Amino acid sequence: MTSIVEQKLLDLLACPRCGGELGHGKYSLNCFSCGTSYEVRGGIPVLMPEGIDIEHLAEEEKLGEIMTDEPASAKDTRSEEQWELSKIEYWDFVRERVGTGKTIANIGCGVDTGFLELAADNTVVAFDLMCPLLEKLRDGHGSALNVAGAVHALPFRNAAFDAICCIDLIHHEPDRLAAIFASFARILRPDGILFLEDINAWGLLQFWKSKMMPRRLHGALRDGWHRMKRSKHRPAPYEFPTDVFKSMQMLSKSGFEDVEAVPLKSYPNTGKAGLALYGKMSAAERVRRYHNFHYMIYARRA
Ligand SMILES: [Zn+2]
Repeated sequence: MTSIVEQKLLDLLACPRCGGELGHGKYSLNCFSCGTSYEVRGGIPVLMPEGIDIEHLAEEEKLGEIMTDEPASAKDTRSEEQWELSKIEYWDFVRERVGTGKTIANIGCGVDTGFLELAADNTVVAFDLMCPLLEKLRDGHGSALNVAGAVHALPFRNAAFDAICCIDLIHHEPDRLAAIFASFARILRPDGILFLEDINAWGLLQFWKSKMMPRRLHGALRDGWHRMKRSKHRPAPYEFPTDVFKSMQMLSKSGFEDVEAVPLKSYPNTGKAGLALYGKMSAAERVRRYHNFHYMIYARRA
């Protein structure tokens, strides 16, 4: 029998519970230090930490179903175009900066296939909480190296990666940012690069809600609105946009340097009037950097 997990992937992995080295059992990966045995599903190691919040996971699964639910309503088309554009902007920037022959983690990869172009001349690991999304990437899009696990207990060795890509993930864990950034720093080698994108609390067309309103009220209003619109990108109740300035500040304190926000042209999740307004205001570079729907941060591990 060939090994159930590719050696090149195994070399990057560590136990999510104790950080120990993992080795092959007959049908599983086993931790040499704490003895925990982890399931491997069709080459995908499922490396969950202890006591993973099942309710939270169910919410994520619901979200995953919505994300894989293909047909978009006509009303959503303009917003979908902007989502597409935002992904193109992100991956173009990453490709330009990262070069070739690198080892890259795509943390919280979801079903976005933009990273697979990088996989042609780099080693790219797709990482997500939900195994079904990874199976879809593997079977439908040829993603070769996939790992299931939780962002707050990344099952990777110290300094394993040259770069981390992370899109629209951290607003799922708005209260754990310091821990998440510290673990990004841990798995990056010195000089490794983080490409972080998230929903921006300071977005031009959303800061009046995300910065000016109490968080609970914003959550309740937002939930009602998305239900009414039957919208495709419906946020889970614990999600909250993150603050570009705070994220930059926290990264600087978490072992990163050269922390900068990258200007972006796209503005998803708005209608014609919103786009026209953003179009005008984004003539100012400050708006493209700090007041986009998404912010994108480039940071180098010190
Ligand atoms: Zn262990």
